[in-house]
Amino acid sequence: MEGKQVGLRDLFSMQFTSPGFSRELLKVVGDQQPDACFQCMKCSSGCDALKFQGDFRPHQLVGLARLGLRDRLLNAKLIWSCTTCSYCREVCPQDVSPVDVIKALRRMAVKEGQLLEDHRKIAGYLFKTGHLVPVNEEVMELRKKLGLSSVPPTTHAHPQSLEEVKKLLRATKFVEIIGGGGGSDR
Ligand code: SF4
Ligand code: SF4
Repeated sequence: MEGKQVGLRDLFSMQFTSPGFSRELLKVVGDQQPDACFQCMKCSSGCDALKFQGDFRPHQLVGLARLGLRDRLLNAKLIWSCTTCSYCREVCPQDVSPVDVIKALRRMAVKEGQLLEDHRKIAGYLFKTGHLVPVNEEVMELRKKLGLSSVPPTTHAHPQSLEEVKKLLRATKFVEIIGGGGGSDR
């Protein structure tokens, strides 16, 4: 029947699997091969991210990546709660490296403008000040106590360089991606 989707369907999300998305993901992942995963769950046994937010475990994410369940992958909380500690890469007997799959998913999500509100806000600071974490008064005082200048030799000390930073961020489409978060001055 014309226009009818065929393939495996995930019964939780009722979403069809997408081999195209898996191929796209593999290109971003690089050398690591999720297809070699035999679901032994060693990676999930010591994953720190599960203490913070528990939706998927690393072995489940790798399983979804093999199926290409795009929306579930790009909306998985694990892709943002992962601390990139690399435990899962070190213990995997198949050299799969779930953390690299997670990093690839992050890149793909961000490219589509899907990022957490907090990240958007912090990214807005980079555009506005040249720093992801601008130096505040408390830090200035600490620096002075340590015999340093109150601000580091960055855009804080050279505000005229901020326009260069903004130019770079506009050229890389960073500003479009963050959508003006953090009240940034575009
Ligand atoms: S440790 Fe490796 S092979 Fe085992 S489930 Fe995790 S990714 Fe798959
Ligand atoms: S790198 Fe991320 S997914 Fe892997 S064990 Fe560490 S926190 Fe968990």
